[in-house]
Amino acid sequence: MAEVVHRTPNPFAGGGLDRAMERRADDAWLTARKSDPSSRVVPVWRSCSLVRETSREVATEAAEAGYDPVLLTPAQAEISEPPGEWIFLGLDRGREGDRALFAAAVSGSREPVLAGVGTFVDLRRVGALLEQREGSLLAYARAVVTWSRRHRFCGTCGSPTRSGQGGHVRRCEGEACGAEHFPRTDPAIIVLVTDGDRCLLGRKAIWPDGVYSTLAGFVEPGESVSEAVVREVREESGIEVGAVRYRSSQPWPFPASLMLGFRAERVGGELRVARQELVDARWFGRSDFARRREIGFRLPGRVSIARRLIEDWLAGDRSRGNVPAGTP
Ligand SMILES: [Zn+2]
Repeated sequence: MAEVVHRTPNPFAGGGLDRAMERRADDAWLTARKSDPSSRVVPVWRSCSLVRETSREVATEAAEAGYDPVLLTPAQAEISEPPGEWIFLGLDRGREGDRALFAAAVSGSREPVLAGVGTFVDLRRVGALLEQREGSLLAYARAVVTWSRRHRFCGTCGSPTRSGQGGHVRRCEGEACGAEHFPRTDPAIIVLVTDGDRCLLGRKAIWPDGVYSTLAGFVEPGESVSEAVVREVREESGIEVGAVRYRSSQPWPFPASLMLGFRAERVGGELRVARQELVDARWFGRSDFARRREIGFRLPGRVSIARRLIEDWLAGDRSRGNVPAGTP
């Protein structure tokens, strides 16, 4: 299963952060870092990430503004909930030395006042407008904070859990239980189905008007990822696929997915849209993409690996800096 190596990783991947796992068990070091003024905290409030607009230009069709994450100092992060329960993300190795990075939940029904330092936004909205490593950092923070908040009680016995290993485990406090719960990543497949010079895209009712995208679904217990690709495509469209090829992956922390991107070729079946999943699915020829305004369909946003799966196919896999795996 050779991976296509992209010079630019998918949004939310490619952060390159040193996770410094050996420090997760070092409580004294972690406590010292929490009061070190050079440390920084990535806040997550109601699943939203704190950003501010920058003057940096971002090359999108709409020429949108870029965004930078806003990291809090330890003093600013005192509003976290529960207090001081920060999750150690890793070390930012800068020119002036290493600084520890944490993530923390910020509670409250109203947006916390942080002296006008930024705005809390849905990461899906700004993910393509952030620098690679910063998008990755915010995705990592959102994923671990969401997991931690959803596992405050043990799924085995119902007792409260306590954060350990720098926040990367939650241990059950029940006397007879003591179960350990670890952050989850749920694999999901996303696939561009092709049939010669056309590709299959579907549309969900909740998507913006005219958007058609690749088919996707969760890998179920007891199946391999390629089995999940074959099953999902069959269920959603009635199409049978063979030659399932892995392309690349993308962390998708909404709340805990890992998108595994594939290309698959139709080998049989006729298009039959599963209405409980999609409102429509169609074959689009290459020429349809050039005149998509006329036809009235839109591609998924750049934040999703779906867009890259489609664009790589349109470009014949050779442009946009793609190189075969193993090429230096
Ligand atoms: Zn328990």
